[in-house]
Amino acid sequence: MSFDIHSIRKDFPILEQQVYGKPYTYFDSAATALRPLQVLQAMEKIFREFNGNPHRGAHYMSNQTTLAYEAVRDQVQHFINAPSREEIIFTKGTTESINLVAYSFGEAFVSEGDEIIISEMEHHANIVPWQMLAQRKKAVVKVLPISDRGELMLEKLDELITERTKLMAFNLVSNVLGTINPIKTIIEKAHHHNIPVLVDGAQGVQHGNVDVQDLDCDFFVFSGHKLYGPTGVGCLYGKRKWLDAMPPFLGGGEMIEKVSFSGTTFNALPYKFEAGTPNFTEVIGLGAAIDYVQQIGLTNIAAYEHELLEYATEKLRTMKGMRIIGEAENKASVISFLVGQIHPYDMGMFLDKMGFALRTGHHCAQPLMDRLGIPGTVRLSLAFYNTKEEIDQVVKAIEKTVELLS
Ligand code: PLP
Repeated sequence: MSFDIHSIRKDFPILEQQVYGKPYTYFDSAATALRPLQVLQAMEKIFREFNGNPHRGAHYMSNQTTLAYEAVRDQVQHFINAPSREEIIFTKGTTESINLVAYSFGEAFVSEGDEIIISEMEHHANIVPWQMLAQRKKAVVKVLPISDRGELMLEKLDELITERTKLMAFNLVSNVLGTINPIKTIIEKAHHHNIPVLVDGAQGVQHGNVDVQDLDCDFFVFSGHKLYGPTGVGCLYGKRKWLDAMPPFLGGGEMIEKVSFSGTTFNALPYKFEAGTPNFTEVIGLGAAIDYVQQIGLTNIAAYEHELLEYATEKLRTMKGMRIIGEAENKASVISFLVGQIHPYDMGMFLDKMGFALRTGHHCAQPLMDRLGIPGTVRLSLAFYNTKEEIDQVVKAIEKTVELLS
């Protein structure tokens, strides 16, 4: 380990909480990560000291928030190595970013009979917006299957691609299976057919370095709250050639150039896609979160989380009746499992009463659950503030739960 876990844990005040009189152990970072003090302090500073609507006033505070807000755009640009700051759009999160692309790209480029390809392991956020687009335009959503191990069946992709394929949308990391998808290979294949690719990075940006130029993806989306930042903020990176050709998603303030009752012209990128008062406090919090993970180093984070993943997988695997859902070769620190006939909700409830926060259910991936023929899973997601001792404790708690419920 190349960082001091004990001093890192001090940055996360929630880890000092107790629930039901027991120490609180957090294994649900894939749903929403904890926020370090540095993020809370950055946001508190805005609430206490700087109130001004960015881009909208000549006064001191408005200028201060404008500068801070736009500085985070530069930060995000460098964080994912985007070619320019104008290609970074602030949104409410991954879901809004995908909806933006589904609507605006769909308006510009998708017609009746066209096709969008997604995969069997997508989150609802990367399924439903495409279905809505398909309904609006009479287009078709096609689905790339996965293997029983939980890996994309890339060999089937060629069968799905036709002259009508207008876009592909895949996650970088599955929120259920933990699979890290070979997204660069997919993009190369898609580009060979001139098909753009959207990458859902909601479970990817927090686990390793992302370089959108190296991936050559056309769109990349992620949420602040899964990257140790606040809720209510996310990003969309899009190649300028697409964003320029796409109509605005929402109308209102700041996204305009000139408004009259006879018509409106729209602002340049990135503002064309940022209607209304921006969530500047959250954006500034996101900037602090990016600073924080960069100080630890995403390479260090990935290495430590991998160590935790291997440790936890080995421990769980030896348990009687244990079935790990998602055995891909390349995995991020997310472990879904079922034990014997125990329903995931029952397991989750018992663990909760012992102070362990794990997610249970379909994880907003009902089609994936149908594919696997299961009602849901229990999901243990590990972040860099977790420890091997916590894993030992949760394994004991799972064993105790199995004993009680069997
Ligand atoms: N995509 C994936 C893979 C996710 O895991 C999630 C959230 O769990 C989302 C999209 C949606 O993210 P948000 O709810 O932050 O918009």
